[in-house]
Amino acid sequence: MISQRRVIRRIKNLSQQLSREYQGCNVLIIGVLKGSFIFMADLIRGMSIPVECGFIQASSYDRGTKSSGRVRISGLERLTIRGREILVVEDIIDTGLTMKEIVRNLKRRGARRVKICALLDKPARRKTDIHPDYLGFTVPDRFLVGFGLDWDEKYRELPFVGYIKRNADCGVRIAE
Ligand code: 5GP
Repeated sequence: MISQRRVIRRIKNLSQQLSREYQGCNVLIIGVLKGSFIFMADLIRGMSIPVECGFIQASSYDRGTKSSGRVRISGLERLTIRGREILVVEDIIDTGLTMKEIVRNLKRRGARRVKICALLDKPARRKTDIHPDYLGFTVPDRFLVGFGLDWDEKYRELPFVGYIKRNADCGVRIAE
């Protein structure tokens, strides 16, 4: 769906934009595990300002490709949030339920400002008023894998964003 070249080029642009906007801000960049780790690694390596990094874990999907509708967040207690300028880095925003819960928690813990940076946005299935402040690509309503995104813990390592293609014989194939 999105080639390695396009993803890398877009992330480089985002890194430059973020470097300008967070100059002198002592920003805390919080990656949402596991899906964001590859995006976040590329994003911060392209930045030209000092940043602090933290990770939280959120799970709204159990197994497979259907949302369970439940959002669990852990790891916030290990971070100092009060008074901080925060950028949350996420692989993909789908219904927006996960991000809404994350932002709510960060604000409750006293964050000064919370902004969202997502590699992918799937607006077709949105159930909340959440929108990324910084975005890589808007994508159609397909289940995507690669560049950190998994299907049942597989395919995170793919260097491009692909989608699952189901064959008539019930097999699957990853299309780029
Ligand atoms: P939301 O709460 O916005 O519905 O879901 C956010 C989370 O669902 C993402 O962080 C990601 O883990 C998962 N998710 C949503 N859409 C996709 C997709 O197309 N592929 C994969 N692998 N995960 C997805």
